[in-house]
Amino acid sequence: MGRKRPERTARRANERAARQLVRDREKLAALSTGGSKEHPIHVDSAAVVEVRVRSLACPQCAGNYRLIDHRAPASGLREVDVKCDQCGAPRTLWFKLVTSEPN
Ligand SMILES: [Zn+2]
Repeated sequence: MGRKRPERTARRANERAARQLVRDREKLAALSTGGSKEHPIHVDSAAVVEVRVRSLACPQCAGNYRLIDHRAPASGLREVDVKCDQCGAPRTLWFKLVTSEPN
């Protein structure tokens, strides 16, 4: 009766911290290789892209990615939409095709 609920305040602080953690992880993912057009993951061929996607883990829950769609916005560049199989977080990964063969 009119008693304070410190546990609720604590929960709210936890939720705030959790949201901040999600944001921090997103920021880190955007800065890491493959997270942006400026820092694509280098691959030998387009065929390797799917394999690389499967080898990556979701920064939020370490789950596996599922490939949703991929585009070629520029020659040698692949923009890949993926979704985490575990938490459902969507992400766009960038790949650059680096070939040792002469063009
Ligand atoms: Zn996830």
